[in-house]
Amino acid sequence: MPDISKRTKLFSESVIRKMTRISLQHGAINLSQGFPDFNPPEQLTNELRRIAHAGPHQYAITWGAPNFRRALAEKQCRFMGIDLDPDENIVVTCGSTEAMMAAMLTACNPGDKVIVFSPFYENYVADTILSGSEPIYVALHPPDFRFSVDELTEAFRQRPKALILCNPANPSGKVFSPEELRIIGELAEAYDTFVITDEVYEHIVYAPFRHTYMASLPGMFSRTISCSSLSKTYSITGWRLGYVIAPREVIEGVRKVHDFLTVGAAAPLQEAAIVGLHMPDAYYEDLLQSYTRKKELFLGYLDRAGLAYTSPEGAYYVLVDIQKFRPESDMAFCEWLTKEIGVAAVPGSSFFREDVNRYIRFHFAKKDETLIAAGEKLLKLAAWE
Ligand code: GLN
Repeated sequence: MPDISKRTKLFSESVIRKMTRISLQHGAINLSQGFPDFNPPEQLTNELRRIAHAGPHQYAITWGAPNFRRALAEKQCRFMGIDLDPDENIVVTCGSTEAMMAAMLTACNPGDKVIVFSPFYENYVADTILSGSEPIYVALHPPDFRFSVDELTEAFRQRPKALILCNPANPSGKVFSPEELRIIGELAEAYDTFVITDEVYEHIVYAPFRHTYMASLPGMFSRTISCSSLSKTYSITGWRLGYVIAPREVIEGVRKVHDFLTVGAAAPLQEAAIVGLHMPDAYYEDLLQSYTRKKELFLGYLDRAGLAYTSPEGAYYVLVDIQKFRPESDMAFCEWLTKEIGVAAVPGSSFFREDVNRYIRFHFAKKDETLIAAGEKLLKLAAWE
């Protein structure tokens, strides 16, 4: 048999998805792969039922159904404060995962360098490898996950083609301040670098923190490729609806990459999700309130279980420090936790360049009863000295 490509040997399978499989195997409560166990809003599921009969069932326009793009442009304009042309500034993709990959393939040439903050969402490593580029890691230092301006400047001196910015950040829960974004933006401008954002948690930012869109900072629209999705905002991670927002010249490239990668996102699902994009402000306030409650509920259990963690400012993940357990490795600890305690988490080594074996990640996008059941199990760790 011929050998498979070298490229595929440079990265391993997703540890997040692997933990879901281990969790299923042991019948554990799965707080590893971040997705809700509750239903999307009824307006979306009712609309999906109607569309099942009414259609569309054939391809939408490759870069997104026109009415979906119009509704998205209107909604994002409302939140980002930028005028977006649905025909020139948007490509609808299969989730933010494809949006990021398409953005990287559009922005980078083989051999280009790309700044990746660590801890990072594991997809970014595969994205850089598949686009032939090379990551330069810049640490976000716990507990507040700030970057050192010197370290970031040093990374920019290597003349990267792009910087990947996950804001609010998975897995750290960091929300970048306008001041931090300004520093990144100024360096990007000085070194003529693209900023590729992943903003899928844009509506899950806990008070008093606020989300600032990089693309909305003065002068930044022209070098920012904003990626996001409807997955987290409307609890529809399986619908795979994401998008890229960028200037026309960049969108021209993204359209071509996207066309040959996937042709398009599912037409009936785009149609059904439009009601979500038309939701009033109250919907986003309720979503945030619900996640704020879930966060408090779950962190309360971590406190009672005697676990040290960094409190998230946004998104729905929490990094727990497992040093006191003196684990053989964070993976071994996660396997033990899944099997013996009955709760699955993701080992921190899949997110960190440094501090490997020190953290594990839980997510709390679950029904209150699921979080309570998981929390009760974690209390068994309280006895640990
Ligand atoms: N974003 C989620 C996580 O980090 C799920 C990602 C996925 O499996 N596609 O867990």
